[in-house]
Amino acid sequence: MSDCLFCKIIAGDIPTEKIYEDAEVLAFHDIRAQAPHHFLVIPKKHIASLNTADDAILIGKLSLTASKIAKDLCFADEGYRVVMNCNANGGQTVYHIHLHCLGGRALSWPPG
Ligand code: 5GP
Ligand code: ZN
Repeated sequence: MSDCLFCKIIAGDIPTEKIYEDAEVLAFHDIRAQAPHHFLVIPKKHIASLNTADDAILIGKLSLTASKIAKDLCFADEGYRVVMNCNANGGQTVYHIHLHCLGGRALSWPPG
């Protein structure tokens, strides 16, 4: 069995609140939401980080999936943020690539 937390979520070994799923990607609520809307979009294929990603279509699909969900949940027009943390200085803690989508409140910039 994989040691990767998000591979375990994909396999159904760890329960999660799924929002969207197809053959290539899964979206689910972040367990420690930092905004009224905060979900993660991940590829079903294990990719550790943006540094080891090479599938442009799949990486692009993460963003378009986030946008589709934001529209479906009716917070796209007021705005939202998508962000991908990479490695230690980027704040990455789970080494299965994931796109954060945050919305439902005004977000400050730049991040700390
Ligand atoms: P990172 O810091 O790697 O960019 O983001 C990892 C995210 O995964 C964090 O926002 C964290 O709250 C979330 N997370 C960690 N463990 C779990 C879990 O077991 N379930 C869910 N739904 N989210 C998790
Ligand atoms: Zn994984």
